Amino acid sequence: MTTAYIGIGSNLDQPLQQVQAAITALSQLPQSRLVAHSPWYGSTAIGPGQQADYVNGVAELDTRLSAHDLLDALQAIEQSQGRVRSERWGARTLDLDILLYGQQPMADTRLVVPHPRMLERPFVLQPLLALAPALVLPDGSYLRDRAAAAGTEGLWLLEHA
Ligand code: AMP
Repeated sequence: MTTAYIGIGSNLDQPLQQVQAAITALSQLPQSRLVAHSPWYGSTAIGPGQQADYVNGVAELDTRLSAHDLLDALQAIEQSQGRVRSERWGARTLDLDILLYGQQPMADTRLVVPHPRMLERPFVLQPLLALAPALVLPDGSYLRDRAAAAGTEGLWLLEHA
């Protein structure tokens, strides 16, 4: 059994419902048990252009799936639940990332774990910290130190989510 942390984000088509549907789907994955998920956070979209705010969170999953099988499963959830079924077909409304897969780093053409951009992202580090305050990352650093370094700019807790 491996403990994996999954980053969840949505900024289209009722984001809170998208991320909650993702939690339901994660709880139904084979050979896996959803342990917990973080509170939900709002975050300002990064990147160029006008984009709606995101809803972000992190889920903790105990799984016997390999990292690549888990990625396949996450992409199937993105496909089935994360697309706007309208003229905006193709717009992705759900992003699921493997942040950590146990303490095992890996890198190939499909999968890089720990997720390469997670250390820069308050919307990943703060929900992960809420879920796993004592977590030590594969490089030996403490999540709490990484989260403090990244700060909380552009991030807020969704109180009633
Ligand atoms: P994105 O559009 O940002 O969700 O990126 C999706 C692509 O990132 C997919 O083609 C994955 O194969 C690749 N990828 C690499 N590392 C990861 C990871 N840790 N979690 C999820 N997708 C990943």
